[in-house]
This record gives sequence, C-alpha cells and structure tokens, in this order.
Amino acid sequence: MKLFTIFGDPVSHSKSPIIHNSIFLKYNLNARFNRTLLIDGYKLKEKYHELNLSGASVTVPHKEIAFKICDEVRGSAKEIGAVNCLVSEGDKIIGYNTDIDGFLDSIEDFKNIKKVLIIGAGGTARALTVGFLNKNYEVEIVNRSRERLNNFKNFNIKLYDWSDFQPNNYYDLVVNVSSAGLQNNDDLPINREILIKIFNNAKYAVDVIYKKTAFLKLAEEMGLEIRDGSMMLVYQGVRANLLFINDIQKISRDEILIEMTRAYNLK
Ligand code: NDP
Repeated sequence: MKLFTIFGDPVSHSKSPIIHNSIFLKYNLNARFNRTLLIDGYKLKEKYHELNLSGASVTVPHKEIAFKICDEVRGSAKEIGAVNCLVSEGDKIIGYNTDIDGFLDSIEDFKNIKKVLIIGAGGTARALTVGFLNKNYEVEIVNRSRERLNNFKNFNIKLYDWSDFQPNNYYDLVVNVSSAGLQNNDDLPINREILIKIFNNAKYAVDVIYKKTAFLKLAEEMGLEIRDGSMMLVYQGVRANLLFINDIQKISRDEILIEMTRAYNLK
C-alpha cells in the first residue's frame, strides 16, 4: 500500500486526508492518506523515511524546511523557496509547490486584478508573491514582524511591518496569508482600525484559511467580494494528487476535481 500524510503543526484541522482519500477510495487505489503532527521541522526528512511514505503534503510552518530537505525541487517551487508537496522517486524526495497554481485557479473569476496587498510573510506568502509577479500584478506585503520580510528582499516590492505600514493605497485584492484566524476564529491578521482603512479602499478579500474568518467577515460587512481558502485547498490538492498517483493510475484532472470538491463539501 502507498502511504501519504500531511505534516504540520497544527495539523488536526487539515482536510487534505478527506480529499486525497476520496480519490483513493473512489478509484479503488491501494493508497491511504493521514495526518502527522510534526513539531520539530528539522525531523521532517527522518520522519518521512521512517513512515515509509510515497509522498506527503506539507503545511504550516514547515514549507521552507521542506524545500531544504528535498533531493530535487521542480517547477515554481525553485523560485518560491517553499515546498508543499513531496513525492518519492526511488530513494529520492522530489519537492513541488502546488499552492500558487491552486490559489490562482481558485480566483480565476476575479476581474481586473492589478494591485495586491499580501498580509503575512511565510512560505505561502512567498508562493503567492512569485505567482502574482509572474502575472505582472503589483505586490505589497505587510507582516507582523520584520524578520521574515528579509526573505522577500530580492523581489523589489514594498515591504512593511506593522510599525511602518500606512493604509493609504488602493488594492484590487487583499489576501490574508498569515495564520491569524487558523486556530482562534476571532484573530485578525492586523489591527482592526488599520484593516478597516485597507478595506475602505479595496475590491476583493481572500483568506487562504478555509473558513469564514473574522478577516473575511469584516471584509464582507464592508462590501468587498470575499473568498475563503477552501477551493485553493481543493485545487492545490488536485495538482498534488496527480503527482502522487501518476505512476499507478491515469485519472484526469477534471475527474479528480469533481470528486475532491464533492468530498470536501460533504464534510
Ligand atoms: P508560515 O508559518 O510560513 O507563516 C505564518 C505567517 O503568519 C507569518 O508571516 C507570521 O508572522 C504570520 N502570523 C502568525 N500568527 C499571526 C498573528 N496572530 N497575527 C498576525 N500574523 C501572524 O505559514 P504558511 O505561509 O505556511 O501558511 C499561512 C496560512 O496559510 C496558514 O493559515 C495555512 O493554513 C494557510 N494555507 C492554506 C492553504 C489552502 O489550501 N487553503 C494552502 C497553504 C496555506 P511573523 O513572521 O511575525 O511570525
């Protein structure tokens, strides 16, 4: 049996097992997907081999460490510097990043995006930055603290921490890519008064967390069109699943998308 898991801390909230197992069960594949709480990210490689995995998803806060432990990194993950999908090829671990394409797939219907504010500066923020810049969007980032902003210095974009951010600009899209709201639904990713000023001058708000967070509730109250991270999860999962089962089954992207969406909405 092929075994897959998702590594993260926290990880109990993850719906990845639901969507991946839905494909394994529907198509009768000898494969299972579970969750693994990993507190010390430096143990990722050891744990991956110990569990004898064929592949894994990686979530908060280990995506940058995952990038470092791969024997080879392919596609946009190289530019992003963060990996959310690991696949075994012989003795090697190959790393991919399916987050950005999953995110872009999930907002395909949003019109005329030119300027984006990203709140948060972790691995997912880096993925989104690369994806947005490749689409020629103008990007600004605001993060709680300064340190992680250093990972964005090579991008030539405006970087702020909470102490030097002034919410004076118009943004077509504001994305919460911080983990504020992940565990405590009331947490906002930035001070409420600042967020109100940001939303006063914006059109769309997306939270990559897959529920209606306080961030999204406030945006909706203020008349923005909102989207949570559930379809991003499904779309990135579709891309990961295609990589996971590539050698055992040829199932089309559309078939996987339909089944994963159904499974996600059931739970
Ligand atoms: P990282 O741990 O790499 O980064 C976390 C970021 O959140 C940092 O910038 C950190 O700021 C900030 N942060 C954490 N807590 C707070 C807080 N209370 N207030 C303000 N900022 C905070 O995480 P990832 O980039 O991997 O993931 C970020 C979020 O995206 C997670 O919630 C994850 O679940 C979600 N996600 C969803 C996906 C989906 O498919 N829907 C896919 C990928 C991610 P600082 O630098 O100051 O610590």
